[in-house]
Amino acid sequence: MNMEYKFRIDFDENNVLESVTYTLVSKFNLKPNVLRADIGGDGAGYMLLGIEGDKDTVEEAMIHILDMGFSVKELNGHIIHDCRKCWHCGACVSLCPTKALYVDSEMRIQINGGTCIACGGCIDGCAVKAIQLEL
Ligand code: SF4
Ligand code: SF4
Repeated sequence: MNMEYKFRIDFDENNVLESVTYTLVSKFNLKPNVLRADIGGDGAGYMLLGIEGDKDTVEEAMIHILDMGFSVKELNGHIIHDCRKCWHCGACVSLCPTKALYVDSEMRIQINGGTCIACGGCIDGCAVKAIQLEL
């Protein structure tokens, strides 16, 4: 059965990011969806990837990506937003690649669990540690 799996893939200046999606499509017939990619000045960076396919094929493909020299981490945790600590400053909202964090009509920060991919990108942006990642 096909499902969507989510991964964070880190790379350095020695491996080429484009080769990941090309390999997933051409070698494994998977459907990668780049949710976010960021490359620093030193040529290193990361990519958040949703991949649709069956579990065995996705596993085999990610082992292959590891063998290519990339760092691979599956994103399968969930985020906890502590409303008692949150003072709704909004600093975390722009850090979210999937727009799972949003401001509601009462100017309060909310998380849409359906679109959060548990990438952890918002955690460091919160000065009062109101967001935690549970794995
Ligand atoms: S950064 Fe922290 S305190 Fe500010 S809105 Fe986000 S969760 Fe709340
Ligand atoms: S962990 Fe935070 S930044 Fe990442 S998708 Fe979920 S809410 Fe957005």
